[in-house]
Amino acid sequence: MRLLLVEDEPTLRAQLRAGLQAAGYAVDEAGDGREAQFLGDTEAYDAVVLDLGLPLLDGLSVLKRWRDGGRALPVLILTARDNWSEKVAGIDAGADDYLTKPFHMEELLARLRGLIRRAAGQASPVLRCGDVALDTRSGRVTRGGQAVALTSHEYKLLDYLMHRPGAVVSRGELTEHLYAQDFDRDSNTIEVFVGRLRKKLPPGLIETVRGRGYRLAAPVSP
Ligand code: CA
Repeated sequence: MRLLLVEDEPTLRAQLRAGLQAAGYAVDEAGDGREAQFLGDTEAYDAVVLDLGLPLLDGLSVLKRWRDGGRALPVLILTARDNWSEKVAGIDAGADDYLTKPFHMEELLARLRGLIRRAAGQASPVLRCGDVALDTRSGRVTRGGQAVALTSHEYKLLDYLMHRPGAVVSRGELTEHLYAQDFDRDSNTIEVFVGRLRKKLPPGLIETVRGRGYRLAAPVSP
């Protein structure tokens, strides 16, 4: 999953980036409102962490512009302590959730997992397809109750697909959502990871849809 982190305070931004990356997210950053708006308009994000007090263009205006432009991406706003009116304005402007500074990284991560899950129409933190289960909290994957050891790349790929069972996901979409902007992207690597993942999962779980991409489907027993 790929996130946009918008925070003008460099120390806090670096801390948040490190925490988000450690949790497996690909992270793009913006330090002002204009850059944030541009990135949110042009790149594919699974969620945005948006500070409200920003130079050039404030966070609330950025959010309003995204929503006016039909951008539905999940947005979590960071608000100042003891400023209830900011929370109300933020939610009314289209924010999906908020956190008051200072906050614990664990809480931010839990809220992001929830936002991403709900945006994909998933209510449970444990995603299932056939006898494969992926626990978004622990990052554990099981097959028939038995643990499956995945590399972080394999996990990220499966996580993205498990959030969208039955949907056709192109290689381009996977590349966009699994790598940050500054990453040297090559959609051929996706094929390699899909190949490795298939060897560890039930046959038929990840279907190839010719010319379009991949689809996660519960395999039908012969
Ligand atoms: Ca700020």
